[in-house]
Amino acid sequence: MTFASLNLSPAIVSAVTDMGYTEPTPIQTQSIPLILAGKDLLAGAQTGTGKTAAFALPLIERLSQAPATGPGRPIRALILSPTRELAAQIEENIRAYAKNLDLKSTVIFGGVGMTPQISRVSKGVDILVATPGRLLDLHGQGHLRLDQVEYLVLDEADRMLDMGFIHDVRKVLAVLPADKQSLLFSATFSEEIKQLAKGLLKSPEYIQV
Ligand code: AMP
Repeated sequence: MTFASLNLSPAIVSAVTDMGYTEPTPIQTQSIPLILAGKDLLAGAQTGTGKTAAFALPLIERLSQAPATGPGRPIRALILSPTRELAAQIEENIRAYAKNLDLKSTVIFGGVGMTPQISRVSKGVDILVATPGRLLDLHGQGHLRLDQVEYLVLDEADRMLDMGFIHDVRKVLAVLPADKQSLLFSATFSEEIKQLAKGLLKSPEYIQV
């Protein structure tokens, strides 16, 4: 199996090759075709399995294929992460995967000043990686719009809930367009995760690695 045979474009294949990835991991082999086909996804996966590329590569592929509709550069993909470290790591990976493409990304998280984040977001980004609380703060203050989001990823959903972010996550979901593709990644599946998935995902595909 190669990245090219998963129907990722040469710009993306060459970026992952530059990172030293020679072949897709099992979760990537399973998730990439489903995400490219527009499916909602419920994925059971631990950190270290290559799950970031499993959602990021097909999202980047889809974003680069279909130009944004509205004016400016609206946020088209939103990735929610439980911690600032994970959020920063995801965004760093996305930047590397998309380096040959005209896509902009940034990351926002709590515990640091808002001003630089506001300035980065206001320049326009296609892909935003965020922790839920800081996202709600900036959204509540009118610094970002979420009404053009086409793709949502909840990464490490179980940790997000364990850390007490369920209300924040639900508030974010409430302001997103109903018509979007949603991907939920979690290492474990409690009743609460299942409820969250049920409310969010439309005819989801299931994968487990
Ligand atoms: P993740 O599970 O997304 O945190 O990824 C774990 C590590 O595996 C990261 O350092 C990735 O850069 C790396 N990685 C992801 N996909 C591949 C791949 N197909 N081949 C080699 N390394 C990979």
